[in-house]
Amino acid sequence: MILSPDAEGIRRAVEILAADSVVAFPTETVYGLGAHAFSEKAVAEIYRLKNRPGWNPLIVHVANVAAARDLAETWPEQADELAARFWPGPLTLVVRRARHLPGIGAANDTVAVRVPAHDVALRLLEASGLPLAAPSANRTESISPTTAEHVVRSLPDVPLVLDGGACSWGIESTVLDLTGAVPRLLRPGALGLRELRDVAGAITLPDAETEDGTARNSPGMSRRHYAPRARVVLRKDVQDADRSDLAEPIGVLAFEEGPFAEILSADPAEYAADLYAALHRLDDAGVATILVQEPPQTEEWLAVRDRLSRAAAQ
Ligand code: AMP
Ligand code: MG
Repeated sequence: MILSPDAEGIRRAVEILAADSVVAFPTETVYGLGAHAFSEKAVAEIYRLKNRPGWNPLIVHVANVAAARDLAETWPEQADELAARFWPGPLTLVVRRARHLPGIGAANDTVAVRVPAHDVALRLLEASGLPLAAPSANRTESISPTTAEHVVRSLPDVPLVLDGGACSWGIESTVLDLTGAVPRLLRPGALGLRELRDVAGAITLPDAETEDGTARNSPGMSRRHYAPRARVVLRKDVQDADRSDLAEPIGVLAFEEGPFAEILSADPAEYAADLYAALHRLDDAGVATILVQEPPQTEEWLAVRDRLSRAAAQ
């Protein structure tokens, strides 16, 4: 059921969360499938509905920095500085977990936490008073949802989706590990490295990209992810690409003008905001192949390239 996030919608959502079930809600990154993060039953429901492997840990969403600190055994000074600058926002911090809390997935002694910058998410967090584990509200390996419609199509059994319209960032949060001496990037995402370095200083990047172009440092970063039904193929030149080995019909996703099915912005943030919706549209149109113009190999395209190479992994 899709509900408007008015007082009644939030009330229904809180009721469901308090009963250890799940609610999908909008964040500024993508729609999340939320449940009480430290209820074994509620978390099991997330894994079951998403068909997510049990070892893949979940990000815990909280209403403010104080609530984040409560989950941590130690709260590094850098976490304070980053939170002050970027929360609420699309940055997830991995810190040592408070000893009284159970672990989620294979996160043995750590917890990943963030304060989302979305009015509906914040109102839900405040009204429920619960820390909410909230991975993207889609079946594992498929495209993340950026609208309430996407959620319902991927997860028809979710009891409630709060409809907050389209997500403004449209790509998952940046995940930064603060448990070592130097902050380590676990997942490139909505928040860019340049902004992060301004506050955090040096950041260790995932090991040089693996041969398929993806990084594997975060436990959840499986090679194939964010994938549409159609086969995704990346090419530098989509106009004159040899198409003889590609199954028809072919939908072309490019960032330059041309006779293409989907044209996204040449600005990486705008491109990211539209990417998943464009993949959903091409899938819905029934193409067999999505031919994607490869974005530049520059740092500002890191998150988009990461998602595209995972979507293209076989
Ligand atoms: P998703 O919720 O599907 O957007 O994915 C969450 C991401 O956060 C995955 O890449 C997880 O591996 C990562 N993550 C969650 N918790 C932890 C943790 N405690 N340590 C490291 N990475 C984590
Ligand atoms: Mg996901």
